[in-house]
Amino acid sequence: GTDAEKHRDLLAAENERLRQEMKACEAELQELRWQQQQAPCCDCPHLQENAGLQEQLSQLQREAEETRAKLVELDLEVQQKTNRLAEVELRLKDSLAERAEEEERLSRRLRDSQETIASLKSQPQQIKYIIKTVEVESTKAKQALCETQSRNQYLQEQVGMQKQVLKEMEQQLQSSQKTEAQLRAQIMMYEAELERAHGQMLEEMQAMEEEKNRAIEEAFSRAQVEMKAVHENLAGVRTNLLTLQPALRTLTHDYNNLKRQVRDFPLLLQETLRSARAEISQAIEEVHSTNRELLRKYRRELQLRKKCHNELVRLKGNIRVFGRVRPITKEDGEGPEAANAVTFDADDDAVLHLLHKGKQVSFELDKVFPPQASQEEVFQEVQALVTSCIDGYNVCIFAYGQTGAGKTYTMEGTAANPGINQRALQLLFSEVRGKAADWDYTITVSAAEIYNEALRDLLGKEPQEKLEIKLCPDGSGQLYVPGLTEFRVQSVEDINKVFEFGHVKRVTECTNLNEHSSRSHALLIVTVRGLDRSTGLRTTGKLNLVDLAGSERVGRSGAEGSRLREAQHINKSLSALGDVIYALRSRQGHVPFRNSKLTYLLQDSLSGDSKTLMMVQVSPAEKNTSETLCSLKFAERVRSVELGPVSRKAELGSWPSQEHLEVPKRLAGDSPGSAAPPGRGHASPSPGQLSSRSASIRRKLHTSG
Ligand code: ADP
Ligand code: MG
Repeated sequence: GTDAEKHRDLLAAENERLRQEMKACEAELQELRWQQQQAPCCDCPHLQENAGLQEQLSQLQREAEETRAKLVELDLEVQQKTNRLAEVELRLKDSLAERAEEEERLSRRLRDSQETIASLKSQPQQIKYIIKTVEVESTKAKQALCETQSRNQYLQEQVGMQKQVLKEMEQQLQSSQKTEAQLRAQIMMYEAELERAHGQMLEEMQAMEEEKNRAIEEAFSRAQVEMKAVHENLAGVRTNLLTLQPALRTLTHDYNNLKRQVRDFPLLLQETLRSARAEISQAIEEVHSTNRELLRKYRRELQLRKKCHNELVRLKGNIRVFGRVRPITKEDGEGPEAANAVTFDADDDAVLHLLHKGKQVSFELDKVFPPQASQEEVFQEVQALVTSCIDGYNVCIFAYGQTGAGKTYTMEGTAANPGINQRALQLLFSEVRGKAADWDYTITVSAAEIYNEALRDLLGKEPQEKLEIKLCPDGSGQLYVPGLTEFRVQSVEDINKVFEFGHVKRVTECTNLNEHSSRSHALLIVTVRGLDRSTGLRTTGKLNLVDLAGSERVGRSGAEGSRLREAQHINKSLSALGDVIYALRSRQGHVPFRNSKLTYLLQDSLSGDSKTLMMVQVSPAEKNTSETLCSLKFAERVRSVELGPVSRKAELGSWPSQEHLEVPKRLAGDSPGSAAPPGRGHASPSPGQLSSRSASIRRKLHTSG
């Protein structure tokens, strides 16, 4: 028991020591943890290992704790057992003392008894008696001895049992000592483990410390570099600051100024607004007056421009000659007769070549339209003439050429592709609309026909009625046709109606319109009257669009009766037209307007500042080359009479006759112009023959040199 106690005390002391050590270890661990927290090394490779070790450590601690608990348990058990052992020993001691006492008492009685027996033997009777009593008593004693012996036996058994128990307890103690040794070994193992972990931890701590130092050093050097840069920056900023200070001063000054200005701004604004308003109204007034002045100047300029334009046209020639070649059509047939005989000059749009009887003849006009020229293109060249009629000028556009050369196509065109007539009216409408702000315009249309020198109204109620051309009774020298119907037109629809009306009339009147129309002159007379609302100025311009009768010559043999008469009339009127144009272009004093109804009717549209366009139509077919040649010669002759010095006029020979028909004498003998062919040196006409307008032309001519 004392051994066990001693052992237990030793264990307890050992246990205490271990506990102290563990506490110290924990404290160390705590410190290490704290250090690690202070200098965390995030990317340290030992961190994981450390965590593992810590885990292991905690495992070991747990195990040590368990062992400690077990040890405490065992201690308790040993204590209990020691206590029981002491109890048993005490009981054993008691029973031993009891037995010794009993033995003592029994041996004393035995000795007494033996003494008694001996004394009794000496006293036989008595002895016998005594023996007997002794014998009796001896059985009793024997019984008591037996009892005592059994009791002794029992006690001995008890002692044996107690010894057994003691032995067991010793065994138990031994096993517990064994367990303790085992535990001690385990504790030692744990301690070694702990020591190893501690060493590892220390190593890691060392490594971490080194790493930390390295990082600190690095950071320090980096910080030094940065510090240097910051210092430099600071120096720069300092110098900047030094330079900025004056700027700041001026800015502050400016700012103060601005503040003052802002404070004063509303007043200033009001004042400025007042003065600006006054200035603006004054400026508006000035602009108004300038505007008025400008308007006046503009009007004057407009007049001047018009004048200049007219002068230009006059210089270019008031009479212009264009040629238009129609394409070869199905009507021309096939074979060599329908071959193309007309070619053009790629570089000069005024030149045309005709292959006639194997010879190439070239002509130069003001412009030549090849077969592919569209109605639009043709009209573009004509539209300047048309618009000048709005400004109060008279214009004549003639389509000249043999039948089938395209006169009607050029003037009237087709429904899908209208000619000059309709396009001219459309243009007039749009121009008039554009000027509607200042001007009032009225446009009227008349349609007439000259057949066999008789003038007939195509829009009138009685188309058969022959109309006369008369001088205005007001003495202005103007001509007019009493009874000629005039339709006022305001839109394209109106024109279409008028054209249709005239066409229907003509168709119903004639048995063969094609033939009839080729032998008569068709006139569309458009009158544009304008009134300038602001000035009260009035203008009148007339646009005469004439589809002439066919210019082809009629063979002597084939012409008889009415056919001959027709031919003679056509010849006469076309000759007269040629004569008039020639006389006009060569500035002759006398212009034989009266030689035909046509020229007489158009007198005021041909003379003076009037403008005339002769569109000579030709067919390109081989079979028509003779007629084409005639038409082109006519065109060239009209054109060759240049405006210009008088001397040049003299050089040019006489006006060639219009040889439609070989008649012995010119039929238009009633006029002085035809009696003496024009252009033959009428250099100084009698003053009475000069119309006022031609006199003005002459004056202009002289002044221009
Ligand atoms: P004219 O009036 O001189 O007798 P037309 O105008 O009737 O001749 O023309 C004769 C034919 O030739 C018509 O069928 C017409 O359509 C056609 N024609 C004339 N000129 C052209 C042209 N430039 N383009 C196409 N066809 C044309
Ligand atoms: Mg025709």
